[in-house]
Amino acid sequence: MGTSAGSDNGERGIPLPRGVDILRDPLLNKGSAFTREERKALGLEGLLPPEVTTQEQQLTRFMESLRRLPDDLEKFIALNALHDRNEALFFRVIVDHIDEMQPIIYTPGVGLACQKFSLIFQRPRGMFISINNKGRIAELLRNWPNRAGLIVVTDGERILGLGDLGANGMGIPIGKLALYAACAGVDPALCLPVMLDVGTDNPTLLADPHYLGLRQRRERGAAYDAFLEEFMHAAQQAFPGVVIQFEDFGNTTAFRLLEKYRNSACVFNDDIQGTAAVALAGLYSALRVTGGKLEEQTVLFMGAGEAATGISDLISIAMMAQGLDAASARRRCWLVDTQGLVTRERKGLAHHKLPYAHDQAPVGDFHSALRILKPTVIIGVSAVHGAFDKAVLEEMARLNDRPIVFALSNPTSKSECTAEEAYRHTGGRALFACGSPFDPVNLDGKTFVPRQGNNSYIFPGIGLGAIMSQTRRITDDMFMASAHTLSSLTTESDLAQGSLFPALSRVREVSAHIAAKVAGVAYRSGVAATATEQIDLLKQAQDAMYDPRYKSYV
Ligand code: NAD
Repeated sequence: MGTSAGSDNGERGIPLPRGVDILRDPLLNKGSAFTREERKALGLEGLLPPEVTTQEQQLTRFMESLRRLPDDLEKFIALNALHDRNEALFFRVIVDHIDEMQPIIYTPGVGLACQKFSLIFQRPRGMFISINNKGRIAELLRNWPNRAGLIVVTDGERILGLGDLGANGMGIPIGKLALYAACAGVDPALCLPVMLDVGTDNPTLLADPHYLGLRQRRERGAAYDAFLEEFMHAAQQAFPGVVIQFEDFGNTTAFRLLEKYRNSACVFNDDIQGTAAVALAGLYSALRVTGGKLEEQTVLFMGAGEAATGISDLISIAMMAQGLDAASARRRCWLVDTQGLVTRERKGLAHHKLPYAHDQAPVGDFHSALRILKPTVIIGVSAVHGAFDKAVLEEMARLNDRPIVFALSNPTSKSECTAEEAYRHTGGRALFACGSPFDPVNLDGKTFVPRQGNNSYIFPGIGLGAIMSQTRRITDDMFMASAHTLSSLTTESDLAQGSLFPALSRVREVSAHIAAKVAGVAYRSGVAATATEQIDLLKQAQDAMYDPRYKSYV
């Protein structure tokens, strides 16, 4: 439905700007697609080339020029520039070409963009709040022009597998929020990326003359905690009901923040909980093939960090829902870290590993753990390339008719094994999921299509469902429901070709279903701000989704 030119634009509750001002507003600009009527009504005549194009034509033109660029960094810069001048077209590009765009605007492309953040910086996006702003965070948040419904916040300490990137880590919340809008239609105007700049311990950045962040060592301890507490309080005051997603915090901080705020604010951590849901979904899909029961699986992890313990926690909760007691459920998950198998007798174990420190004689390495524990499932989240070598994969194939092998580490160079290795060394019997994209594999006349256990199947739908239901908490039941939903949308023909997830091109459909389930959990468990549950939550989710196609202004 159109709105009258020059009056309230119906989207942001403010009058439509005219002339060059509307061309310079990325939320309103349509460039050459302003119609003749709009050009007349909005004072744009003479300011644009005469030919009126459609958004489809703009899309084709942009894709042509994008594909000519030599590498992903150049493409990232071009996409960023489009985002800054025409938001609707930017999202149309992402939505219509999600397979091609996700590796550029998110992993792995965004990693390099973060490393070069100072050099490619053009226009600010989101909010940079530094520890020097302590005591004034509420005042700063008042400078944000919109009502934020969803914040993605990082302190830049552990950006992807790249470590401490300080303020350069801002590329991650920006990229993630673009995926919320593209994959689940969360209104971009509701999205606020936040960089909490507490300094960096990265000596290269501290010495880099172009670095744009705070040039000091990282603040830690009580001062850091007080800063975070002030931010959490101010954000909830400024934007009541806001969903806050913690992103790429260092290991100990991530677990601490989640524990501290999960029962008092509407928060989640995608690295821990989103990863867990997508891995559990992959496991449910694999079990549809094997016919096995979740509570009968033995899962051995290579890695014992955020991803490994997050996945273990959700698997345990899902097993408990099937009747296992907590101790028995946790005993079905085993972790291997740099010191070997995590066992009860090991001293000084980090808090998050303790639930999985079982009674067991010391085991020094993954191969030995595999032979002793005889797992049905192995999950690689260690970023150790080649950890699932020929011997590991052959042993899994000897132990299991259909071995379940998830090599989730990113980027591709860190993957525990390639898709080709997983299929070849198990005689084509592996049920495989990956963290990095792999091409289809041909083996003995059969083609396998490995799919990524990508968090972007999960977090966008969680965000949309949370906003839709105005939930006050993000609960484990919501992640369980997301995992079930994602697996249920994986078709029989997906499974037949070895895919444990639906095609990424279906991600908006997936997100709508997940949002509906998340909202349903919120209503039923009484954490939604409103008590009334809509009859058709799926339709409500679909109707709530941001659509990047242009709207008429006249
Ligand atoms: P993390 O730093 O929290 O954990 C890494 C773990 O690996 C640590 O416990 C570490 O001790 C262990 N490790 C490192 N070297 C090892 C070795 N040689 N032997 C045994 N263990 C070793 O990181 P994280 O957030 O858990 O992420 C781990 C990996 O998983 C990363 O590559 C990340 O990109 C990937 N990941 C993928 C997805 C996904 O595909 N959906 C989601 C989250 C994380």
